[in-house]
Amino acid sequence: MIISRIETIRVRQFPDLIFVQIYTDSGVIGLGESWYAASTVEAAVHDHFGPLLMGRDPFEIERHWQTMFRLSDHAGYGGAELRAISALDVALWDIKGQALRMPIFEILGGGTRHRIRVYNTLGVYGDITDGHDVWTDPVGVAKRLLDEGISGMKMSPTDFIARESDGQLLFKDDLDWALRPLREIRDKLGMEIEVANDGHGKWNLPNALRIVREMEPLRPMWHEELISPLNEEAHVRLQSATSTPIAAAERLMTRYQHRRFIESSAARIIMPDLTWTGGISEVKKIAILASVHQKPIAPHDCVGPVNMLACAHIAMSMPNVMIMEYNRAMHLGWYRDFIEPDFVIDDGFLMAPTEPGLGTHLKSSVRDRADAIIRTSDEKAEPWLMSRKRYTYPPAEVQDEFIESTGRRRAGSGAVYYD
Ligand SMILES: [Mg+2]
Repeated sequence: MIISRIETIRVRQFPDLIFVQIYTDSGVIGLGESWYAASTVEAAVHDHFGPLLMGRDPFEIERHWQTMFRLSDHAGYGGAELRAISALDVALWDIKGQALRMPIFEILGGGTRHRIRVYNTLGVYGDITDGHDVWTDPVGVAKRLLDEGISGMKMSPTDFIARESDGQLLFKDDLDWALRPLREIRDKLGMEIEVANDGHGKWNLPNALRIVREMEPLRPMWHEELISPLNEEAHVRLQSATSTPIAAAERLMTRYQHRRFIESSAARIIMPDLTWTGGISEVKKIAILASVHQKPIAPHDCVGPVNMLACAHIAMSMPNVMIMEYNRAMHLGWYRDFIEPDFVIDDGFLMAPTEPGLGTHLKSSVRDRADAIIRTSDEKAEPWLMSRKRYTYPPAEVQDEFIESTGRRRAGSGAVYYD
């Protein structure tokens, strides 16, 4: 089996959403996804990585990951290139699972569980307005979730009050006002529902320290990104100031950035975003690294629908998954416009996918949408970094002499090696 074509699909309705489909000569099609600055991810998929993958064996997932990562790391890894790698990685796992007729988690090592508890991040889409309602009827929102079997929720009470000063100035009255919904939930429902606090990296350290101390009696499930995870020492100071776990972080890229937060006391809960940080291959490694330090991972969502399925395979196979993020408004609002079959949330749990591969497909109607932007590439071409003529040293004749005398395979210079 070889990779014969790569396709990206974006829609103007959700400008950050991008699907990637890898086609093979045997007819198996793998689906991946990323989210954020989709047109730049599209360019990375087709112009940067596509030529590396075309004509190659889709089963060699780790090899392709390393090759793509080395190419992107030539100028410092991260950003759109890593999101492209993430989407391509998920699509490769989908191909392998379908070809072997097994759900991906079976290939990753098999089920350590067959469902994972979810918490609901309060969103707003269509008829579901949890993110608005929590300000006017917080107890009602919490009760509705509990009625659905969902025993945890996440809100961002301090985002609004950070706006005016860009997180530099915090008034006590503002914080009291912002924490009213959570106080009301604790007053009426006690600890019936867990509530996580997401700060979206909006605060400086001194204000974050005040917030965690002020919220201590409210017993949040965790504090997430009150400060941006740019500096793990600042996170260590934040964690040491509170008994509430600090979670970090959806914006850490690969095992290499997560390592510092896992190995230090900067975070007690590790929260990778699979579609940003390197795909299924990388989140598995991050989970293993976290397990060495006896820490759980709690995968991030609030991106597209494929992420939930990809994370489900991690959650079923890796023992140290704590809980899965879920956005009820996005799921019931628009995820089903794009994938079928849908993933299953049952009584507050994300259930193990049962179909081979990822367990879902892109609906055929997506390609027919008037707002769809579809780009395909099918040409195998050596990217410029592999061009022997322009960038290889030592000179070609010296390389040939080396290859002839040693019997080794050709290794291009620069960041990429593919024989
Ligand atoms: Mg977050």
